[in-house]
Amino acid sequence: MKPYFRSAKSATIAALLQHEQLSRSELAEITGASAASITEVSQNLLEQGLLVEQPIPQLVKGRGRPSVHLRLQASHAYFIGISISETATPMVITDLQGHILARQPVPFCKTPVELVAAIRRSYPILLRDAGVPRSRVRGVGITVAGIVDSDLGVCRYSAALNWRDVPVSELIGKALKLPAWVDNDANAVAVGEKFFGRARDSLNFTSIVLGRTIGSAHYMHGMLYRGHDGGAGEIGHITIDPKGALCRCGRNGCLDTIAGGGALRAAAKACGLAVSGMRDLEEFAVQGNTDAARLLRTAGAALGSAVAYLVHINNPQCIFFTDMEGFENGVFRTATRQTIENSILPRFLGSTEILFSDAEPGFLPRSAASIAAFEYLTSL
Ligand SMILES: [Zn+2]
Repeated sequence: MKPYFRSAKSATIAALLQHEQLSRSELAEITGASAASITEVSQNLLEQGLLVEQPIPQLVKGRGRPSVHLRLQASHAYFIGISISETATPMVITDLQGHILARQPVPFCKTPVELVAAIRRSYPILLRDAGVPRSRVRGVGITVAGIVDSDLGVCRYSAALNWRDVPVSELIGKALKLPAWVDNDANAVAVGEKFFGRARDSLNFTSIVLGRTIGSAHYMHGMLYRGHDGGAGEIGHITIDPKGALCRCGRNGCLDTIAGGGALRAAAKACGLAVSGMRDLEEFAVQGNTDAARLLRTAGAALGSAVAYLVHINNPQCIFFTDMEGFENGVFRTATRQTIENSILPRFLGSTEILFSDAEPGFLPRSAASIAAFEYLTSL
C-alpha cells in the first residue's frame, strides 16, 4: 500500500528523500503521478532551489543525450536540533539531508528560562562554526525526555527535568526567531530513522530506543502513529512482573524497571558490581559473573517479550533498536533477539527484520532536527 500524499509535490519530495536521486520517469512511476505533472512539479521545485539536476554519465539508449536525475539540494535549507535532558543539552545544525555541520553543547541549566537563554547564546556560535547564514535556517526541532504535547508544543511533564507544562516550542522559537516543534525522544528518533536513517524504505516499522528508560514509536503506512491523544509507544510501562520493583509511574514491574539502563545500573550496584555503562556489565558477564549475566538475560528476555507483543499487534516490517546504553553485541541483545524469535508466530519470523545499532554522537539532536526538516518539507 502506498502512503497517502496531498499532492504530486509532496509525493515527489517524499520519493527523493527515500531514494536520494531519481529520473523524472522513475518519479512518475513511484508517485503514481502523470509525467506532465512530474515535469511541472520538478520545474517549480528547481526554480525554488529545492531540487538540483544531476547529469548521469551514461547515454540513454537511442537518444544520444545524457540522462538527468533529480535530487534534493542539501544546502537549500538548514535546521537546528536540540535534545534536552537532565544530563546534557546538545545542539546541532543539519542540512536538508540530515548531515550535521556543527554542534554546540549547551551547559546544564536549572530552569527552562535559564536554558532558553543559554540556547540563545549558543545559536550564533553554531551558525558561525557551520558557516551558515541565519536566513537559511528554516526551523528548530526539540526533543524533551518526558511527556510532550507536540500539537501545542508543550512539555506536560518531565520527571528527569522536574518540568511541568513548559511551552518549549514558544520559548525556544521566540528566542531563536524560528518556527519550532517539540516531541519526545522516541518519536523524534523514529522521524529521524524515516527521513535520514535506516527506515527510508520502510512504510511500517517500529523504532525502540534503549536509554535510561525504554521508548518506542511506530510508523504505519508511512506516517508516525501517535494514538488517540499522543500516548502511543509507552512500551516502558508495560507490566512484565506484577510483583516486581516499584516504577516511577507508581505501578510495579514495568519493563523500565527490568530493562531500562537506569534500573540495570541500580541493580548492578545492588549486586556489588561497579558499572558506569552497560559495556561494563556485559564485560562482567563475559568474565563469568553470574549476577551480571542474569541481569542482562532477564532484561533482554523482558524486552524481547514486550516487542513480540508489538510484532503480533502491528506486524512491522522492521524493528530498529537504537542502543544508547552501550550493550553492543552481548548477552542483552542475544537474549532480546532470541526471546522475540521464540515468542512470535512462525509466519512473522521471515518477514520481521530485527536490527540493532549503536547511537552515534549527535544522534538525538539530529533526530530533533529531522522533526523541523519534516515539518518544513511537508509545508511546501
Ligand atoms: Zn511504569
